[in-house]
Amino acid sequence: MTAKTMDELVALCKRRGFIFQTNEIYGGLQGLFDYGPLGVELKNNLKQAWWRSMVYERDDVEGLDAAILTSPQVLKHSGHEETFMDLLVDCRSCNSRWRSDHLKKSTCPSCGSKDLTEPRPFNTMFKTNVGPIDDGTSFAYLRPETAQQTFTNFKNIVDSTSRNLPFGIAQIGKAFRNEITPRNFIFRVRELEQMELEFFVKPGTDEQWHQFWIKERLNWWSKQGVSENKLDLYDVPNKELAHYSKSTIDIMYKFPHGREELEGVANRTDYDLGSHTKNQSELSITAKVIKNSSSNAKLAIQDRETKNWIVPYVIEPAAGVDRGVLAILNEAYTVQKLEDGKERTVLSLKPHLSPIKVAVIPLKKNNEDLVSAATKLKGELQGLGLGRILLENSGNIGKSYRRHDEAGTPLCITLDFQTLEDQTVTFRDRDSMTQKRLDVKEAADFVKESVN
Ligand code: ATP
Repeated sequence: MTAKTMDELVALCKRRGFIFQTNEIYGGLQGLFDYGPLGVELKNNLKQAWWRSMVYERDDVEGLDAAILTSPQVLKHSGHEETFMDLLVDCRSCNSRWRSDHLKKSTCPSCGSKDLTEPRPFNTMFKTNVGPIDDGTSFAYLRPETAQQTFTNFKNIVDSTSRNLPFGIAQIGKAFRNEITPRNFIFRVRELEQMELEFFVKPGTDEQWHQFWIKERLNWWSKQGVSENKLDLYDVPNKELAHYSKSTIDIMYKFPHGREELEGVANRTDYDLGSHTKNQSELSITAKVIKNSSSNAKLAIQDRETKNWIVPYVIEPAAGVDRGVLAILNEAYTVQKLEDGKERTVLSLKPHLSPIKVAVIPLKKNNEDLVSAATKLKGELQGLGLGRILLENSGNIGKSYRRHDEAGTPLCITLDFQTLEDQTVTFRDRDSMTQKRLDVKEAADFVKESVN
C-alpha cells in the first residue's frame, strides 16, 4: 500500500523532520524546501546508492563535482539562452500565472476562467551578479542542469584519465530553474538536485547504448524500492524534444498527484561537445551547432586505431534527487491496521536508504548501567560504518518503536535489566514487529546481516 495523498506524505515529512518549507517562519519561499535531520540522511543515502552503482561498480565512469555558477558563454553555446524557455500565460481574471503546457482546455486552474493572455516565452534560468559592480555586464547563471559543467570538463577528464570511448562522467549536484508554477511538494522546485551521467559513445553505437541505459535505470529504481508496476516509459514525441535531443525516453512514475517524469534518458548526440568545441569545421559534427569562436579546447577524442578525431555522442540518464526522494517515500509509506484495532504508520524503506540504521534503546532513561551499556553498543555498531546508529534515550519503548517505524529505522535494539545480568539484548524488526533475544556479542553480525 502506498500513500493515499500527497498531504499524508507532507504531514509525515514535517512531523518526523524529513522536509520543511524553506523560510517557513517568514511565510515560506515558494518552490524551495529544506531537508531536515531524517531527510538529509535519506537524500544522502539515495545519492550514495546512485554514485556506487554509477562510479564504484563500473569501471568506465569517472566522477565530477563542478561549480554551480556558470559562464554565460557556456549557456549561450549550449543553446540554453535561446531555448531554455517555458511558455507563460496570465489569467486576466485572477492574475495568476501558468505554464501553458500544463493547462487543461486552456482554462485557468485557479479560477476556471478562459480569459488568458497569449503564451509568451519565459527563460527559466536564474542569473546572479558576479564581482562587486552590479552594472548588468558581469553576471553568471546558476546552472539549469549539471550536464553543461560536465561537457566543459570533457578535455580535462580525458587528459587526466586517458579514457577511451565508451566512458562516462557522473555528477550529482544542485541545479536551478525559475519554474513558473512550482508545486506538488518537492516534485517541482526551483532549487533542485540532479544525478546526471553523461556517457560518451562512438557515433553509430548511440542507439544501442540508449537502450542499455534505459534498462539499467529501470533496474536501479527497482532496487531502491520503487515498484515496477508504478514505472513506465514515455517516448517523448519529436515536437516535445529538447533542442539537443535525437530521442528521449522519460521514466515515468505514478506520483501521488499523477503520472509524471522521474528521470529522462536522452540521446544528446554530438550536440553539446560539438557546440562547445573549437575548430568545429575540422570535425565531422552531425548536430546543428551554433558557430563557436570563443572556446579554446578541442572536445574530441582520437580513435586509437584509425587515428581519426571523433566528437562522441552522449547518452544521458538524468534523474532528479528530489523526485527520487518523493517516489521512495511514497512507496515506503504504509498505514497498517494492528490486531488491537490501532493503526501504525511505517516507512518500509530499503535498509540502505533508511536515515537511521539502528536505534539502541535503554529501557530506563536515567539508569546509569543501562545507559552506559547502550552507549557502548552504539559506539561499536557506529564503528561498522553502515550509517547513522542512534542512541535513543527517551525511556519509553512503545513510543520509540512507533517513532522509528515512521522514521523507517529497520532495527531497534533494546537493553533491559536482564541485559545487565546475562548480556542479552532484544532485536525488534520494523516490518514484522517480531522480537528476538540474542547475546550482545552477536549484535554486530546480526546488524550487518539485517541492514546491509
Ligand atoms: P519537466 O518536464 O517535469 O519539467 P524536464 O524534462 O525539464 O522535467 P530534465 O531537464 O530532463 O527535466 O531534468 C532531468 C531530471 O531533473 C528530471 O527527470 C527531474 O527528475 C529533475 N527535475 C527537472 N526539473 C525539476 C524541478 N523543477 N524540480 C525537481 N526536479 C526536477
